[in-house]
Amino acid sequence: MIEYDVIVIGAGVAGFTAGADLAGKGYKVAVVTTGEPTVCLSTGCIDLCAGPSAREGLEALPDEHPLRRLSLADMEAALNGFKKTMDDLALTYTGGLDVNRKVLSALGSFKTTCLVPDTMAASPQTNDEAIHIVTFEGLKDFYPAYILSRFPQASFSVYDAGASTTMGIASRFEQGLFREAFVAWLEGQRIRENKIGIPAVLGLEDTQGVLREIEYHLERPVFEVPTLPPSMPGRRLFNALKAHFRNQGGDIYWSWPVAGVEKTGHLVEAVFTPTDGKPNSLNARAFILASGSFVGGGLTATRETIVENIFHLPVFVPSARAGWFEDNYFSANHAISRAGVLADSSFRPEGAGFENVFVCGGILAHAQILKFGCGNGLSLTTGYAAAKACAEYLS
Ligand SMILES: Cc1cc2nc3c(=O)[nH]c(=O)nc-3n(C[C@H](O)[C@H](O)[C@H](O)COP(=O)(O)OP(=O)(O)OC[C@H]3O[C@@H](n4cnc5c(N)ncnc54)[C@H](O)[C@@H]3O)c2cc1C
Repeated sequence: MIEYDVIVIGAGVAGFTAGADLAGKGYKVAVVTTGEPTVCLSTGCIDLCAGPSAREGLEALPDEHPLRRLSLADMEAALNGFKKTMDDLALTYTGGLDVNRKVLSALGSFKTTCLVPDTMAASPQTNDEAIHIVTFEGLKDFYPAYILSRFPQASFSVYDAGASTTMGIASRFEQGLFREAFVAWLEGQRIRENKIGIPAVLGLEDTQGVLREIEYHLERPVFEVPTLPPSMPGRRLFNALKAHFRNQGGDIYWSWPVAGVEKTGHLVEAVFTPTDGKPNSLNARAFILASGSFVGGGLTATRETIVENIFHLPVFVPSARAGWFEDNYFSANHAISRAGVLADSSFRPEGAGFENVFVCGGILAHAQILKFGCGNGLSLTTGYAAAKACAEYLS
């Protein structure tokens, strides 16, 4: 008996995007996952391609890059669909293909990105802007001294929130009385600068509401500064993607690591997870592999090579192990970042011969997300494209 139309492996940006698209089209979809995805470590920004604009950056990508498999129309549809969904969930995103925006980091440098959460939209775009930075007693993963050293017109103040972790402080911001006390303290700081930056701890859910409340009282723009991992904006995005998938009618199998597949000829029929007794399996008509790169668990490096763990798909391995890394640790060009699964124009894995398997996200070969600045945006747009190809196959 076929239990699902589609099983998606991986609960990241790629998996939930693909899963929600297909569930929204009426297919019966399940996402199975070992656990939390990489987006929870990320800033929550959607980096699509570095450059003055993502559009210009995309034009300069090498032919083998996975984003080259998508048309600009599909990319725009994926980004617009994402923005509409997030807007409906009160996690508004700003931006688009035509201009990349800068976001101030916890280390005082800028990162460039395609879509920013509304709570970061007022982030300064140059070091000349006059900003006031608020930090919290004992908060690690946030470095106001670095920010101040790069901004000649900046000052800072420190608030004792009675908690020192990002999650702990964010929970405090959910409480009205805490917010009132914080705003009253902030008003007392007599801030002269015309923008206020606060580490990204402004609540777990209605962050936009919290931010607007502070802006209303302080009468100037407020922006969140993403902290080092673990990151609240990344977690908010994960929660929103999960909620959207559920709203579309999708099922989630949490703590369900896929150990292997059952297949007949060119068709995969089921995936299974180990249990104490008989392996637990789930059948479907099609499968989408969105298990991420090394961090997500989709790829593993052995002494000799790099393997894909579930379907044992052919993996592009850039060179012998000795050539995987450059001497400079901070290089964005380590050859290993090109490793991954090669996909054809219909987002099927190349060289595997499976008719009903599609692949998307960070596991794709030649992504080089640091070099090309394409993390969550690659997963979002290829998740959309893999879902489209999968729907064509199913129909
Ligand atoms: C510290 C850090 C900061 C980053 N910051 C940014 C940023 O600011 N902006 C940006 O755009 N990108 C950023 N990125 C990159 C971005 O987060 C990732 O490229 C993107 O989220 C990958 O998404 P994915 O859905 O392809 O895979 P992943 O998020 O890696 O998801 C993989 C999923 O597959 C599951 N899985 C793996 N193996 C199995 C299995 N055998 N069975 C079942 N499930 C399995 C995992 O549990 C997980 O749920 C950052 C990455 C890191 C590490």
